[in-house]
Amino acid sequence: MQFVETRGNDGQKPKSVAFSEAILSPSASFGGLYVPEALPNLNEEFLTKHLSSHYKTLALDFLQQFDIDIETEVLEEALKRYDAFDDPSNPVPLVQIEEDCFVSELYHGQTRAFKDMALQPFGYILSKLAQKRGENYLIMAATSGDTGPATLETFKNQDNVKVACLYPDGGTSDVQKLQMVTEDADNLKVIGVKGNFDDTQHTLKDLLASEDFKSELKERDIKLTAANSVNFGRIIFQIIYHIHSYLEMVRNETITMGKKIYLVVPSGNFGNALGAYYAKKAGLPIEKILIASNINNILTDWINTGAYDLTDRTLILTESPAMDILKSSNIERVMYDKFGAARTKELMDALTSDGKYQLSSDELASLQEDFSATFSDDVEGEVVIAAYAKQGYIMDPHTATCMKAYETLREEKLPTVIYSTAEWTKFSSTVSKALGNSVKDDMEALKWVTENANVSVPPMINGLFSKPIMHTVVVDKESIKGEMLNFL
Ligand SMILES: *Cc1c(COP(=O)(O)O)cnc(C)c1O
Repeated sequence: MQFVETRGNDGQKPKSVAFSEAILSPSASFGGLYVPEALPNLNEEFLTKHLSSHYKTLALDFLQQFDIDIETEVLEEALKRYDAFDDPSNPVPLVQIEEDCFVSELYHGQTRAFKDMALQPFGYILSKLAQKRGENYLIMAATSGDTGPATLETFKNQDNVKVACLYPDGGTSDVQKLQMVTEDADNLKVIGVKGNFDDTQHTLKDLLASEDFKSELKERDIKLTAANSVNFGRIIFQIIYHIHSYLEMVRNETITMGKKIYLVVPSGNFGNALGAYYAKKAGLPIEKILIASNINNILTDWINTGAYDLTDRTLILTESPAMDILKSSNIERVMYDKFGAARTKELMDALTSDGKYQLSSDELASLQEDFSATFSDDVEGEVVIAAYAKQGYIMDPHTATCMKAYETLREEKLPTVIYSTAEWTKFSSTVSKALGNSVKDDMEALKWVTENANVSVPPMINGLFSKPIMHTVVVDKESIKGEMLNFL
């Protein structure tokens, strides 16, 4: 399988690359992204074959159908990372919360957010590739709280890869910050940046654009790569759990094989939703993908009107910070798939020069064949959290945005899977507040929620509060380069 470029080819980069190349150097011509030339076929035979498969067996077969240039033994080792999830026999449990509504819990890995689903096996594969080639890589991540911990965790103590993670000081939950600053490995660096997530992203962007930083890297023979969802190495693992959720719905006899279901995806950078789109396109029986947003509802507008307009928006901080995004990277891959490279380049160029673009009515109709969208604000989210807590199910504020999509967007009464992208323990202060008890910090929130709702806190979260702090550096924009060079 070869990978091609969403904005066409610039005559300098190769016209297509193998998977290994696409994940080591994820930026394509004209600032575009890599996408697979074709998708495997998820026909009924494939699905039936995996009705009694373990998650890892399904995953391995799927990856092999993709025909990527990674050896089977490496893939098998990478998938063994799922053995560290809460229940190695099923890393992604499905829980019923309504007669026709099920929650697929993607957060049972080490850092308690769905980022582990892809970053765990991806991290193993990337560092193996680097070792095999004898190359050294640096991954720089700016995080609003979930990507950072998951990226550090997957690469810790892996050879040939270093990770530097920038977070906004004061802009993450206590638990998220502790997950980062207590990571103890020589190849990891965690730096707080004075300011908000926007400032953090700008700091990173300026650093990566700076010529003397680039030449310092060159001198040290270090290559840069990325571990966010612009990297197809993450997307490929985010197709698999949608297949798994479907098979779980057949196994629990909510549907028979071949019947359609809805998927509800709480979205930010659209990696999770893109995985669902690829699964649907490959043949998984999905009626529609329902996109849930918070009040940073640019995706709702895009899907409902075809307009993507950054000009009248500023980012609003919400209780679902992993979805506080205005520039959603992965919708570019959907546009490439539907409208081709030339049109994708035209639209993305317009976004750069004018801050906006508008799909034609035909293009919009095509988009709406696969997606519907809505959004909810923090107050609506808290109402949802409180309502389900009464029924005995505790969900985090990202997951809570799904319920309005479930309630209002379905055109037919088909069974529905909603995705839970984080455990409540990562956002316990918000959950506690939703249940009527405002607290001063996460420690108090975790305690109160545990005592008042019938849930427990897993050891990797409880343990954070007594772990030694390894990273204490908080800098302003100007000092970042010095810190980085020290680390390298
Ligand atoms: C990253 C994240 C999201 C958004 O996922 P995308 O794939 O970027 O759309 C939603 N919820 C949580 C908890 C996350 O960590």
